[in-house]
Amino acid sequence: MRSLDPTLPLPAPAIAALPLSTPFVAPEELARRAGHAELLRLGANESPFGPPPRAIEAMRAELDRTSWYGDPESMELRVALAARHACGVENITVASGIDDLLGLCVRGYLAPGDVTVATLGSYPTYVYHVAGFGARLEGVPYERDGSIALERLAERARATGARLVYLANPDNPSGSFAPRAAVEALVEALPEGAALVLDEAYADFVEPCELLPAPIDPRVIRLRTFSKAYGLAGARIGYCLAAPSVVQTFQKIRHHYGVNRTAQIGALAALGERRFVEDAIAEIVRGREDYRVLGERLGLATLPSRTNFVCFDLGSRARAEAMVEELLRLGVFVRKPGAAPLDGHIRVAVGSASERGRFALAFAAALQTLEKPELA
Ligand SMILES: *Cc1c(COP(=O)(O)O)cnc(C)c1O
Repeated sequence: MRSLDPTLPLPAPAIAALPLSTPFVAPEELARRAGHAELLRLGANESPFGPPPRAIEAMRAELDRTSWYGDPESMELRVALAARHACGVENITVASGIDDLLGLCVRGYLAPGDVTVATLGSYPTYVYHVAGFGARLEGVPYERDGSIALERLAERARATGARLVYLANPDNPSGSFAPRAAVEALVEALPEGAALVLDEAYADFVEPCELLPAPIDPRVIRLRTFSKAYGLAGARIGYCLAAPSVVQTFQKIRHHYGVNRTAQIGALAALGERRFVEDAIAEIVRGREDYRVLGERLGLATLPSRTNFVCFDLGSRARAEAMVEELLRLGVFVRKPGAAPLDGHIRVAVGSASERGRFALAFAAALQTLEKPELA
């Protein structure tokens, strides 16, 4: 299609055909729209405990050198990560979060028109990159209980000749977790030449023995982040564990200065703060139980979760949407799963004890408002 105005640049056809979309409307934008200066942020699965204090100190001590670029190879951090994961630095790419790495997976391994399989309604940024790079998504719905049937992902991958399968494990937004044996079986069942993009954003919340073992399987690209358990979401830093050939492929296309120096320093320092991170995780586990009990008290079922958030069942998509709106009106930011059968739930991050208390009050009030729509 030619533009009528010859001065207007034409986007590439695949891009021109895309709807205007972002994977998420940010809480800052939602606050502006709702007229709130600040929201109780329970919608982005951020850590209520912040980064480890020693990581803050380390970053602060180096702020004067923000005039320097960071090391584009993130070598110090990769050496520490290699020791942590019993692999080599050649198995690790550091990037500005898993979101960045998802783009590298798609761009590196899916030519326009190539097929990838993912759970319908799982973490949307993967799908966003798939659309943006012109690949084709084959979606497999969640099971009714919010779990993911890994054998169905494998079946669909074999039926469609998919080159990548995406699995978030533990999953967002369901919070469900597939055991290690099921993940291993999925890898074995992949079509020839295909890889599993294993998004392990919440791996810190499960026991290491429940995850794939340390040796790098060349068919798996594992993605990790400092955004969740380590409390560094705003620093934008994550990494992949993968075969050297994958790391080399990413090396050709990645944004070499896309990881900022302060984030490298913060991540390296945070890695050494196991005690702080373990305490934060233990408090998240307590908070999940608080939410389950809260749901029970309010007559709402919750989905079991192995992450730092819990889904509450509002019974229908319309009610869940109304709840997100009403909570926003009360100054509380939460999200909801977009696709059936989970679209009748809202997803609430585990906050600090005081944030959980504030959420419980707002949630109870919002439920009352929903029950009397004529007053809303
Ligand atoms: C939060 C989240 C991410 C984002 O990770 P970043 O490292 O902050 O980009 C990726 N995947 C899943 C499943 C998440 O929940």
